[in-house]
Amino acid sequence: MHMFVTILGSGAALPIGARRCSAQVLNIGGFKLLIDCAEATQDRIRYNHLKLQSINTIAISHLHGDHFFGLPGLLSTMHLCGRTEAVTVVAPKGARQVIETTFELTGNHIGFAVEWVEMDFDEDCRRVFENQRCTVDAFPLDHSVPDYGFRITERPRNAAAPLVYAYCCDTAYDERILPHIAGADLLCLECTFSNEYERLAAERKHLTAGQAGRMARLAGVRQLLLTHISARFREPDLLLSQAREEFPNTIIAADNQRYDISHTPTQPTDTTADEK
Ligand SMILES: [Zn+2]
Ligand SMILES: [Zn+2]
Repeated sequence: MHMFVTILGSGAALPIGARRCSAQVLNIGGFKLLIDCAEATQDRIRYNHLKLQSINTIAISHLHGDHFFGLPGLLSTMHLCGRTEAVTVVAPKGARQVIETTFELTGNHIGFAVEWVEMDFDEDCRRVFENQRCTVDAFPLDHSVPDYGFRITERPRNAAAPLVYAYCCDTAYDERILPHIAGADLLCLECTFSNEYERLAAERKHLTAGQAGRMARLAGVRQLLLTHISARFREPDLLLSQAREEFPNTIIAADNQRYDISHTPTQPTDTTADEK
């Protein structure tokens, strides 16, 4: 089965420069899973020729604005474009209240069902979604608000070994996460700071490049894709070299690029040139 991820936003906190904030669409044999939904995600979906109404499942890691503030606008646009099909939203507890209150107080309405899967656990790993194409397991990260990583495992049609994609954003360095991301074919991991900012990273519950590389190495993943790059690093070569000291098979995510997930290392493809 063909599995790839399109990066819509790979920046941290501020949507400036070449990077917008966190959002990506994982495609598993035609099934699309939107992971995180920062401001302007719907613009990026259009820019990348992804069909908005073909997205019916959304997973939100945590409720910080740079991962979540695009959701009300996206749901509103889906309604305005005539959607009737339900949307499943997997998100930390509180997301439902935010969205329903927003629509209620602003007098807006959405004419389709939102099926909520709210996450409210602080240990282990739980299955939060499954269909014929994949399973999605969530596990807690170490951040300043409740935050979950995702392990998405394909369900291959034949006896082929399933591909695994893991996403952790945002988190401090925490080896309790390792079993949940172990052996992933592609690990997309936050990398907000360079090694020089290790103290600041710990304070703000983020990773340095070296820590991200170390987690990838200890987890035995096949390839590491760094995301959530702070705007202070306009030229992220330093982050890449620091991560590669720990884990050589590392690349840095760029907006509007597609990364194939396979049992061999991948290189990005520009997604804006043709229909996906
Ligand atoms: Zn963030
Ligand atoms: Zn955050």
